[in-house]
Amino acid sequence: MNRVYAAVNRYVQGAAATDSLADELGYLGLQGPVLILSGPTVKRLLSEKWKAVLGDRGISHEVLTFGGECTRKAIQSTVDAALALKAGVIMGAGGGKSLDTARAAAAQLRLPFVSNPTVASTDSPCSALSIIYSEDGVYEGFDSFGRNPDLVLVDTDVILRSPERFFVAGMGDALSTMFEADACRRAGRPNLRGGLSTIAAARLGESCYRVVMEDGREALASMRAGHPSPAFERVVEANTLLSGIGFESGGLAAAHGLYNAMTIAESTRPYLHGEKVAFSVLVLLVLEQASEEIFEEVRSFCLDVGLPVRLSGIGLDVEDVELLRAIAEHAMLPGGLIHNEPLDLTVNGVLKAMIEADRRGMGGR
Ligand SMILES: [Zn+2]
Repeated sequence: MNRVYAAVNRYVQGAAATDSLADELGYLGLQGPVLILSGPTVKRLLSEKWKAVLGDRGISHEVLTFGGECTRKAIQSTVDAALALKAGVIMGAGGGKSLDTARAAAAQLRLPFVSNPTVASTDSPCSALSIIYSEDGVYEGFDSFGRNPDLVLVDTDVILRSPERFFVAGMGDALSTMFEADACRRAGRPNLRGGLSTIAAARLGESCYRVVMEDGREALASMRAGHPSPAFERVVEANTLLSGIGFESGGLAAAHGLYNAMTIAESTRPYLHGEKVAFSVLVLLVLEQASEEIFEEVRSFCLDVGLPVRLSGIGLDVEDVELLRAIAEHAMLPGGLIHNEPLDLTVNGVLKAMIEADRRGMGGR
């Protein structure tokens, strides 16, 4: 099998990066009209700025309101709007789901895609994947496209003002990158781009973990104080660029496999992707029999920044063994990401690991 590394074409991050949107489009030779898909909050926050920045250069645009889930229907409405506008570029602005919807629509129309995350909450902005949900919000699978975003534009002024919980969840998601990439490498399993991992992807995953561990607490303090800092900038990059390319070109395993399976449990819906992934990293560490030191490093970080270390922190009850077993069964279905672990796993083993991670998350031995 070949080694494959795929990355975003151009990544731009900085305070007031939105001001350079038109310059960046010009630099890449991208032509309007631009169809922007964004949720109502982001639309309120940025529509005046888009009008000024794009209007100044005579680039027409239209903002389409995103409904909240990346479903086949939402993708089709975005495609229809882009066709009606005769769009030359599709831009997604917002969280992972609006980006995924805009990305899928752009791929369907073979249009350039600009990813404009307004929260640093997931590893999705730089990827070439869209996670698709049913109309009821259940994970259906993911579509993988040939190309990564043409441009990822991250305005750290906007991220600084985004809800703290999303930023923390982004760190939870970023925690998993190194462990899952390492699992895939050891198991000889392919990454998300259909090839084996590279040294480059492995290094990005390691850097991602170290940046989050070393700068995460300080970055959160800067966010709370409303003051940007080098630590904050570094963690935004870890959550977005390092985690994004790291997972896609490094591969995913137990943590995201469990996350996907948890979507069958209605009670976990109010919790963010990165929150569920963070707890799932503890489960991965139990499954892999990682050292106490590593488990404790992750656990104490989670406790310090407010990421869940118990099943109850993601809407699950440790006593509800039937539901936990259903999640373990779902994770173990053929084709599930958990099979990328270099381990012989059973449903019972996964179930036990979830319960043990919960006990050790509480501080029990
Ligand atoms: Zn993720």
